[in-house]
Amino acid sequence: MSRIEAPCDEATSNLTDRLLAGLPPEAVLTDTDVTASYANDMASFCPAGVPAVVVLPRTVEQVRHVMRTATELHVPVVPQGARTGLSGGANATDGCIVLSLTRMDRILEISTVDRIAVVEPGVVNAALSRAVEEHGLYYPPDPSSWETCTIGGNIGTASGGLCCVKYGVTAEYVLGLDVVLADGRLMSTGRRTAKGVAGYDLTRLFVGSEGSLGIVVRAVLALRPKPPRQLVLAAEFASATAACDAVCRIMESGHVPSLLELMDRTTVKAVNAFARMGLPETTEALLLAAFDTPDPTADLAALGALCEAAGATQVVPAEDPAESELLLQARRIALPALEAATGTTMIDDVCVPRSKLGAMIEGTERIAEKYRLTIGVCAHAGDGNTHPVVCFDAKDPDESRRARESFDEIMALGLELGGTITGEHGVGVLKKEWLAREIGPVGMEMQRAVKRAFDPLGILNPGKLF
Ligand SMILES: Cc1cc2nc3c(=O)[nH]c(=O)nc-3n(C[C@H](O)[C@H](O)[C@H](O)COP(=O)(O)OP(=O)(O)OC[C@H]3O[C@@H](n4cnc5c(N)ncnc54)[C@H](O)[C@@H]3O)c2cc1C
Repeated sequence: MSRIEAPCDEATSNLTDRLLAGLPPEAVLTDTDVTASYANDMASFCPAGVPAVVVLPRTVEQVRHVMRTATELHVPVVPQGARTGLSGGANATDGCIVLSLTRMDRILEISTVDRIAVVEPGVVNAALSRAVEEHGLYYPPDPSSWETCTIGGNIGTASGGLCCVKYGVTAEYVLGLDVVLADGRLMSTGRRTAKGVAGYDLTRLFVGSEGSLGIVVRAVLALRPKPPRQLVLAAEFASATAACDAVCRIMESGHVPSLLELMDRTTVKAVNAFARMGLPETTEALLLAAFDTPDPTADLAALGALCEAAGATQVVPAEDPAESELLLQARRIALPALEAATGTTMIDDVCVPRSKLGAMIEGTERIAEKYRLTIGVCAHAGDGNTHPVVCFDAKDPDESRRARESFDEIMALGLELGGTITGEHGVGVLKKEWLAREIGPVGMEMQRAVKRAFDPLGILNPGKLF
């Protein structure tokens, strides 16, 4: 791949002029205070460069113009959605064009017969969920950041969420894509049909590609009929291990909850401090489970009994949907609450086979002790997807070093247990040294070959993934 260099002032001005030839002035931002505010996503410990320019296109043709310009001038391009990413995947590189897709935010079609939605990439996840709900439909992938994150970002990171334990992750809902390639060509992948196996599955390849293969400008998404409203139950445990045992019992029993989430004591306390939620602080671990079945009360009673058999000290079903929604809200704010309570955080995203969840949590507790750090854990427990949140004082160099080492040791533990370094947040900058450890040299060779095929100049989101 040819080398990309940060442009000098003259080059930046030439770049801006070329971009303005195909974009309206309000879509091209060059004020350095403003462009600097687009440098980072929400991950800590990830270096970010200084963008040369930020562009905010509204049309596919404008995106194509940006990519043609970038290819001609060999300038790196960093696609961005809402920058809620937690791996540095949307961080700017020096001299790049930040390509923010947030203004391409139209829902183009909702078809109740085909059960699909066709959307632009800047549509906010919650906006899509609400829009399809009006048609009696449901778009399941629901990251906790759903009120702000975009569908383009969800596709870029292959997002998960709270309801994935029953309904699966973003990859299962992306049927087809329109993608602007590095040189500006427009490619359509996939289908809008219920089935289709024509050629390699390039749609799936793009899901989780972190902006490194092309720019998603339109997506065909599968929808489901809207399920009945879910009811939530909270179960308290004297240890996180006992809560993990309950998760195993629930999954083994054949129950299919619509949500199965875990928060340890550190997380519970942080959530209470952040939003006065009144969660029980004496408990070591809180398990939230839900059913959206025709008779959720009966299903929750059976699930409550399984929790009690695993040693739950208290099992409290929500009285109504409003109380259920409050409990969900408590889980959704867990990450910002931990950050607010403790200063800087590094958020791991290790996913292990469910049967190894207990070992993962116990190992994380040992790592916290070894490094003398607070590591709060919240988890999409039903998926085996843990988010150990390493809390530290970034101004203290020794504590920062221990934080980074403990963060890495948690990933090593995940791999030892047969898991993955990232269940849903992506590799980005934060975990790129770890990708080869997970997929091995042959896997890396093939991944690089794919990257070269789509992006021979290496201009698309350089420095991410590899
Ligand atoms: C409080 C909080 C809670 C969270 N909870 C969850 C959770 O439950 N589950 C989960 O999976 N994640 C979660 N996240 C992480 C984050 O919200 C997701 O990764 C989300 O999908 C990012 O969307 P975004 O629009 O912010 O994308 P960005 O952060 O802007 O971008 C993410 C990646 O996608 C690429 N990208 C963006 N748009 C495009 C496009 N149009 N074409 C090509 N590439 C593109 C970017 O280059 C980058 O690599 C959480 C984050 C926060 C802050």
